[in-house]
Amino acid sequence: MDDTDRCPCLSGDTYGACCGPLHRDERRAATAEALMRSRYSAYALRDVPYLRSTWHPSTRPPELDLDPDQEWRRLEILATRAGGPFDDDGEVEFVARYRWATTGDRGRLHEISRFVRERGRWLYVDGDVA
Ligand SMILES: [Zn+2]
Repeated sequence: MDDTDRCPCLSGDTYGACCGPLHRDERRAATAEALMRSRYSAYALRDVPYLRSTWHPSTRPPELDLDPDQEWRRLEILATRAGGPFDDDGEVEFVARYRWATTGDRGRLHEISRFVRERGRWLYVDGDVA
C-alpha cells in the first residue's frame, strides 16, 4: 500500500498520515482508538508481525493465522471509553465488516475491545463480541 492511498481504517486520511507510520514503528498510537484503527488496518493488510507486537503478552496467541480468503472492508467506531493520552486503559466498540473472497458472502464483527497502556505503548488485551 502506498502512503498516498486511502487508509484501510477509513479515517479519511491517507495511509501515510494515519496507520502507515504506526505499522512501520515510526510513531506510536496516541490513543486506544488509534491503536485499534491501526490493528484493523493491519488485519486488512495481513500484517501479522504488527498484530503480534501490539497484542498484550498475557493474551497474545502463540500463533496467528489469518484466513487469506477473508477481506476486511470497512471499520466503524461506535464508542470509546477512556483510552486517551493520559489514560492507562481504554475500550473501543466497533463494527468491522468483511467479505469472503471466494463466495462473496459478507459478515460483520461487533466487538468491544480492551486496551492497556504500558511504558507509553497501547496494547490490545482482549474483547467481547457484542
Ligand atoms: Zn488508518
